[in-house]
Amino acid sequence: MNSKFKNLIELHLHIDGSVSPASARKLSQLSGIPVPEKDEDLKNALMCPPGCRSLNEYLSRFDLPCSLMQTQKCIESAVETLCLELKQLGLSYAELRFAPQKHCEKGLVQEDVIEAASSGIKNSHFNASLILCCMRGDKNRAQNIRTVELTKKYLGKNVCACDLAGAEALFPTQNFADVFALARKLEVPFTIHAGEACGPESVAAAVEMGASRIGHGINAARDEKVMELLAKKKIPVEWCPTSNINTCVAPSVKEMPVPKLMRSGIIVTVNSDNMSVSNTNIIHELQAAKEAFGWDDKTIEQLLQNARDCAFVRG
Ligand SMILES: [Zn+2]
Repeated sequence: MNSKFKNLIELHLHIDGSVSPASARKLSQLSGIPVPEKDEDLKNALMCPPGCRSLNEYLSRFDLPCSLMQTQKCIESAVETLCLELKQLGLSYAELRFAPQKHCEKGLVQEDVIEAASSGIKNSHFNASLILCCMRGDKNRAQNIRTVELTKKYLGKNVCACDLAGAEALFPTQNFADVFALARKLEVPFTIHAGEACGPESVAAAVEMGASRIGHGINAARDEKVMELLAKKKIPVEWCPTSNINTCVAPSVKEMPVPKLMRSGIIVTVNSDNMSVSNTNIIHELQAAKEAFGWDDKTIEQLLQNARDCAFVRG
């Protein structure tokens, strides 16, 4: 697979969910924060157990990598290492996302965080851009507004868009209409995680708010009208197969309604979401999709081409 498909690409990949055990060891040395000594224990601390357990268990795997990325040096190192690992896998481009506000626990401000991540990309000489995530919540409106403002400030300088991530079921997409109204006003492009923990109404709200891509979006398949909307407006979905199993969206790849989305004319892209938490990478995700639906190489090439066509930065 790796040799057959060239120019692999990722549009939906979280930096904190993709810290490899080797990277975590390096960050531990840089930060002085201990990590489990045994390789097996470290891997378990970063990885969600296979299969569908609970969203809380999945989310708990972000605690350690996040705690290791609270200084500029550590953020820079984590991003550089990830970029080099992606290059090694055969990717030609990736859009890496993270929430700058989650890296401000030890005195950094969001601007410091973005600049450190940007340096990490530059050091690696890998072709990547940053998507800055706003977080779902009810006490962080000011931080989300700042994330949108900084996306505008750094747009074109290693930053390509913003996003909305976090607990979709607890904090509905509609609650963030004002944050993304500002993004629209500033002409900042954005994607929104929607239709993962919630249903098609969340996808419709994201489209209404002006999202030009949808993170996951798989639950759009439950509503013909929402599928029509995505197809008509040519809004692609960033499908993440293994992650959808881990967070109990569906019990297996085979049971995900992706062929239905494609038959409805929706542009589908395949992504890893979190390489460490979901113990995966783009090659594995494409392979899993190919096997589950019996797709031929031409279909896989089309999915990769979709991602190239829908990237915020076109190569
Ligand atoms: Zn995601």
